[in-house]
Amino acid sequence: MNKPSRILVLGTGGTIAGAGAGGTGAAYRPGGLSLEVLVGHLAALGLAVELVPQEIARIGSQDIGFAEWQALHAACAGAMEDPAVDAVIITHGTDTAEETGLLLDLTLPTTKPVILVGAMRPADAVGADGMRNFANAVKVASDAAASGRGVMLVMGDAVLAARDARKAATSAIDAFRTFPRGPLARVTPASLDWFGPAHSVGALARYPFPAELPRVAILTAGAGMDAKPVEALLGIGARGIVLAGMGQGNAPKVVLEALAACAASGVPVVRAARVDEGLVDRNVEVDDDALGLVAARALGPAKARVLLMVLVANGVTDAKVVQAAFDAG
Ligand code: ASP
Repeated sequence: MNKPSRILVLGTGGTIAGAGAGGTGAAYRPGGLSLEVLVGHLAALGLAVELVPQEIARIGSQDIGFAEWQALHAACAGAMEDPAVDAVIITHGTDTAEETGLLLDLTLPTTKPVILVGAMRPADAVGADGMRNFANAVKVASDAAASGRGVMLVMGDAVLAARDARKAATSAIDAFRTFPRGPLARVTPASLDWFGPAHSVGALARYPFPAELPRVAILTAGAGMDAKPVEALLGIGARGIVLAGMGQGNAPKVVLEALAACAASGVPVVRAARVDEGLVDRNVEVDDDALGLVAARALGPAKARVLLMVLVANGVTDAKVVQAAFDAG
């Protein structure tokens, strides 16, 4: 018999470790349960794997930031090198799972599976989904075909590529959508069906993990707005701006003119959409070539900000090079 997979479990908190709902209440504290207690609950599931817990934080993912990302990246990078570890599962709040997922996806090699898992209902709420999601994540982590698919997110019996995932509902169990690609697999604690082969087994990280992350702001466009918010962002030292634009990344003319001035001054500007889903392509209604702007393509504002932070941190600000990074999807 094969020896059971050894999985490093990195805890950050979130609703999967949430407590205080007391069965039917609404109020709870994300990260109320320690990873030790959470992993104790998992022992009762009889999973045929060895789980090695390491607590990084006990917070709601709305509070996650550079320090936690740095610790997560270091732990994952260590696991890639450690022959005793087969895979990594990160328990994470769902609010920013797509941001952490993309950041790690951009900065880790694809040697071993790295899987984020969360929950929409606290661990002590009736119908809690965390244990099932975790059992599903273990099923994925122990599968020989899971490597080489980038960082993944396991929620709602589906395996999503972190770079495609987006939280699209505030409280429904089935809260995540995936765009432009569909799910990578369907999973239950007893079954796993991949929809295609891995695309990049053993690929190197696309970018080094940054020593610090620059201030990159998201500016949401609204009808009738003026250019003052753009000036304000420059005033607080924004090193990059992501426009959460109307429709295909549109904004009033005065705002686009101000953003073009930013781009000309060396602050890259990426046009994403405030619309839930869809591509933002170059030169559709906005003349990106003339204004020096970048089209976010498939990335929504939150993920576009992560990619732009990584690019600026690595000294990439030229609009053509930034565009190539967004095109690489
Ligand atoms: N606010 C929580 C968090 O992101 C929500 C969740 O985990 O579902 O930590």
